[in-house]
Amino acid sequence: MIRENIKTAQENIERACQNASRDPGEVTLIAVSKTKPVSMLMEAYQYGCREFGENKVQELVEKYQIMPKDIHWHMIGHLQRNKVKYIVDKVALIHSVDSLRLAEEISKEAVKKGLTVSVLIEVNIAGETSKFGTAAEETTELVRQAALLPGIRIKGLMTIAPFVENSEKNRQYFEILRQLAVDITKKNIDNVNMNVLSMGMTGDYMVAVEEGATMVRIGTGIFGERQYLL
Ligand SMILES: *Cc1c(COP(=O)(O)O)cnc(C)c1O
Repeated sequence: MIRENIKTAQENIERACQNASRDPGEVTLIAVSKTKPVSMLMEAYQYGCREFGENKVQELVEKYQIMPKDIHWHMIGHLQRNKVKYIVDKVALIHSVDSLRLAEEISKEAVKKGLTVSVLIEVNIAGETSKFGTAAEETTELVRQAALLPGIRIKGLMTIAPFVENSEKNRQYFEILRQLAVDITKKNIDNVNMNVLSMGMTGDYMVAVEEGATMVRIGTGIFGERQYLL
């Protein structure tokens, strides 16, 4: 099942790229494996998947220790400052930097460990009160300030679009995020590039790819529905 799902997702990404005259090689599929057992991650791994996304520090660390070492781990969930130290040396990319205080903590831990940590700035593009992320209007200022910190490198922007039945409704938000990245690029801020646009999930990744996503984060569409224990 997981193999078929990955194959389908890859085909959908290719189709969306064709629609937008883009090269599918520009789009990275991240398998969002939160709440799922290592056996399922291994199935995706054996099929060739090397990019995994997790949203909880402890779960990421546990899976990191068990899974093969050639995996790129993506921290996609809200990150508390006191947990930064556990993951800076394990993740390929932190997608969820939404405050200067968090950026400062990542910088501090990176310097301590002699690392340069790649990060994205998370933007709350639809202004939903339930979501983390910096406001669109404040993004450029956050990028400017975070870019001055040692040990971190800003690679782009991330957003979680609203949950909608019709993915077309999110096209506007993906377009705004891409435009924001273009505007920031034009400012030529040292230590910043905007090559990565992490946007699109199971319900809307094709629209996101048509609007310029370079990373899509697919959970349910690969591993099936998640069961949360209450
Ligand atoms: C869970 C999660 C996803 C994947 O969601 P699906 O709808 O299952 O594809 C993507 N991004 C973030 C930040 C998530 O927390």
